[in-house]
Order: sequence, then structure tokens, then C-alpha cells
Amino acid sequence: MAIVEPIESAGPHRRLRLKSPVTLAPIGEIECASAEEVRAAVERARKAQSDWAKRSIDERAEVMWRLNDQFVKRQDEVIDAVIEETGKTRSEAISMEVFSSCDSITYYAKKARKFLAPEKRRIHGILGFAKRLKLVYRPLGVVGLITPWNGPIILAVNPMVQALMAGNAVVHKPSEVTPFSAQLLKQFTEAAGFPQDLYQVVQGDGQTGAALIDAGIDKISFTGSVATGRRVGEACARNLIPFTLELGGKDAMIVCSDADLDRAAAGALIGSCMNTGHYCCGTERIYVMEDIYEPFVEKVVAGARQLRQNDRGETDVGAIFWDKQLEIIEAHMADARAKGAQVLVGGNRNPDLEGLYFQPTVVTDVTHDMDLMRKETFGPIVSIMKVRDEEEAIELANDSEYGLNGNVWTTDREKGERIAERIETGGVCVNDMALTYGLHDAPFGGVKTSGIGQVNGPSGIRGYCHLLPISADKKGKGPIQGGYPYTRKAEDGMQKFIKIFFGTRLARWIT
Ligand code: NAD
Repeated sequence: MAIVEPIESAGPHRRLRLKSPVTLAPIGEIECASAEEVRAAVERARKAQSDWAKRSIDERAEVMWRLNDQFVKRQDEVIDAVIEETGKTRSEAISMEVFSSCDSITYYAKKARKFLAPEKRRIHGILGFAKRLKLVYRPLGVVGLITPWNGPIILAVNPMVQALMAGNAVVHKPSEVTPFSAQLLKQFTEAAGFPQDLYQVVQGDGQTGAALIDAGIDKISFTGSVATGRRVGEACARNLIPFTLELGGKDAMIVCSDADLDRAAAGALIGSCMNTGHYCCGTERIYVMEDIYEPFVEKVVAGARQLRQNDRGETDVGAIFWDKQLEIIEAHMADARAKGAQVLVGGNRNPDLEGLYFQPTVVTDVTHDMDLMRKETFGPIVSIMKVRDEEEAIELANDSEYGLNGNVWTTDREKGERIAERIETGGVCVNDMALTYGLHDAPFGGVKTSGIGQVNGPSGIRGYCHLLPISADKKGKGPIQGGYPYTRKAEDGMQKFIKIFFGTRLARWIT
């Protein structure tokens, strides 16, 4: 049963039919944009961008505030679209897609002026006596945005707002699994009075994404899997365009002996099962000190048994967003079982529901020989491993090709921070599940195979700019530095100068 399947097309376009993972009923079709259409969209965007870049940051912010108003007024439309398309719970649709989008839009609308203000920088050395230096954040042009299915609105809104506030236009290729959320976002931008073609959506699959990278854009902001990220990075390198890659993870949670066990058990459940486990910074591996292992597991098991999974009404754990992910989850579970893991709760598809539901699951006796502890599973699975001490926990946490986020649980905050500093990953939370993407001030991005480049916050929005240095004379008159003609006298003078300026302590102090 495919959630996305190719269908016959009479015309020149490839067509895809979408089904809801909640009901398995068809919810619509999309036509994949051709390479020529993608290129035409980028050309239109370039025209829109040249006017947009002339607007002041305050004027751009006004437009973003109107987009925010759309989200506030039309929350239910977002919630309904996202649930139908992904099967995530209503609570997650509200918190991840509506709240986070408003939070991101308002943050950059308020702060962009400060983050992108021109800077004066003192010039080092002797040139500092003669020259001044100004740094100006200039937009790159047209940004290509390629996004995944697990946060179809927020993972588009957050980079889009940063790129637009910085004065760029955006052409967005959403996931083929969640095209209708992007369509809704486009409607919101139209209702908010965005200039025509400033934000465009090109629907399609990987081929359309690849066409966007080759369509003459100025930067790619990519969020998705490691395998696709590699292809995107290669294509950007071929086109010599900058890119950020926000990729997959296998985040570790370390539970110390002095942790608040109730809080840690609750953190393990939400960290592993939130968004049906389809969270890039979701907890995928839990290392627990042996002296608290038994009570911790008991609490997690008790909590997991309370989790509700329904296709209507109140629910805690939603559907698997699409069949391909379900296949990965089932394969990792089969591998873990075959290698001796114990399944204490769940472990299978939910037989009571028609849609793509996998039971919230707790697994123990896992080892690093299992895919469940090595590869990104992206499902509602709490995988727990007993460790001797904190050293072993850190060693195991670092024994991974990924490094996106992670979390440490202890009542000793300083110790938590010390452990955090030793985890080879992109960000760490102490006594909370992975919050970092939602902390706009924090730079976000993975190490190892989890990504290239950090996004968000002041440096994130500046990543959508070229930092243009403009240097000028302080006085505006006199000869050009090092100008013609070259004379022996000037060369001797320069050599003496080098001796004085770089060869004496006093001069070192002055420079
Ligand atoms: P994916 O890599 O399969 O697809 C992501 C996007 O890339 C889609 O829009 C897809 O159509 C497009 N694409 C596919 N092939 C392409 C190509 N050759 N060139 C250009 N674009 C192409 O990922 P997914 O399955 O949609 O998303 C899940 C993955 O995303 C997980 O690994 C998850 O961890 C990761 N993710 C990371 C973050 C983060 O911030 N680090 C956030 C969310 C999701």
C-alpha cells in the first residue's frame, strides 16, 4: 500500500497520487514540475527579488507579520491539512507546525534588522590609520529550498522567513509526501500580500529537486536524509553554489544515576515517540547507568502502556507518515529481535487501526550490532541499553556516524554540561528532550554525517547573505597604497618599516 504512487499521465508531466496514512484514502494528485518549469520559476523569482531587496528590512518585516496573522487566524486549516497528509497528532500539528511557525516568523521579523545591520570593523595594523571598513549584508538572490515530510510547514517556514527577511526570493520544492501543506503555505503568502513570485512552490519528487539545484539558483537550503544530502552536496559543488545540509540523526540520551527518574522516563517517551518518532532530533538510543536501570525501565514501560493511539479523538502517538518509513522501522525491529533484543511494549503495527500505525514500543537488551542502535529508525521506539558508568555512556553515544543532537539527564547541572561538551554532536539539552531547533537563538546543525553548516539565529539568517566588505580612505585623499611607480627608495622604506613594525615589542603592542 503506497502513500505516494506514480499514476498514468496523458500529458508531458509525471503524476503522483497521494493517500492519507490515517485512512489510506486518496487525498489528491500532484503533477511534477519539469526542469524547464523549475528554471522559469527561478527566473520569475529573480525579477521579484530585485524589487524585494530594495525594500527596507522594516518593510519586509511588515509582510512577515501579515503571514504570521494568517497562521493565527487560519490555524485549523494548517492542522487539518497536516493531519490528513501526515497522520501526526493534533497536539503535534499545533505545537510543531503552527506555534513554531509563528515563533519563527515573529523572531526574524523582530530581530532581522539587528542581525543584518551594517557593521563597522576596526582595521588591524598600519592600514587601520588610513582606512575604514564597513561590512554590508547583501542578499544572495534566489534561494532554493528543498524540504522533507516530517515537519512540512515549519521546516519550510523557518528557512523561508530567514531567506526572505535577508532580501532573497525563494523557490520551494516540498516533499512529494506532503505537497498539500506547501500549497496551503503558498495560499497564506498570497493572502498576506507577498509580492508576486517572491515565494514559489514547485511540486515534485527527487527529479524536481535535482532540477532546482541546476536551475541557476544562488543557494540551496536542504533538509532531508543523509543519502539525498550527499547527492545534493555533490550537485551544489558542481554548480559552485553554497548550501546547508540538515540531515538525519541517531540521537543519544544519557541517564545518570542522580537523574530525576520520573522526568527522565517522561523525556525518554516524548523524545522517542514525538511526531511518531519522525523527528530529526528524536531520541533513538538511551544509555542508562546500571544502578538505576531497573526502576528507569519500569517507569518507561508503565508510561508507554499509557500512550494512546487512535485515528480519531484524543491521541498521543500518530500514524507513520508513509509506507517506506514503516518498512524501515519493521526491518530494524526484525533485526533487533533476531539479535536478542527484548520487546517489552508494542513492537508491531497496530492491528486495531486501518491506517499506517506502529505501536509505541519499548525495547531493551539492544546492542551496537543492531540496526536499531546504528541506523536512523525514525519510528516511535524507545531503545534502552544498560551501561556501567558515564564514561561508557559517552563512549557509546559517540560511537555513531551521526551527530545531530542529544540529551543528558542529571540533577547536577554542571556535570550535565560537562558531559554535554564531550558528546560529538550538533547540540545537546540537559534535562530536556531535543529542543534546539525551536530555540531560534541557538545555531542548529549536525556534525559527522548529520549535516553541513549551521542554520538559525543571527549566523543562520546571515548565511542567506554575502557579507560585502567595503573599504575606503579615512580622509579620502593622498596616494593609493602601494601604487606605481615601484622605486628602490620605496622598497627600502618598506623593508625598514617591516623591521620597526613587526620586529620590535613596542611596535607589536601598537599594531
Ligand atoms: P529525503 O532525503 O528522502 O527527501 C528530502 C527532500 O529531498 C524531498 O523533498 C525529496 O523530494 C528531495 N530529493 C530527493 N532526491 C533528491 C535529489 N537527488 N536532489 C534534490 N532533491 C531531492 O528525506 P525525507 O525522507 O523526506 O526526510 C526524512 C529525513 O530528513 C530524515 O533523515 C530526517 O532525519 C531528516 N531531517 C533532518 C532535519 C534536520 O534539521 N537535520 C529535519 C527534518 C528531517
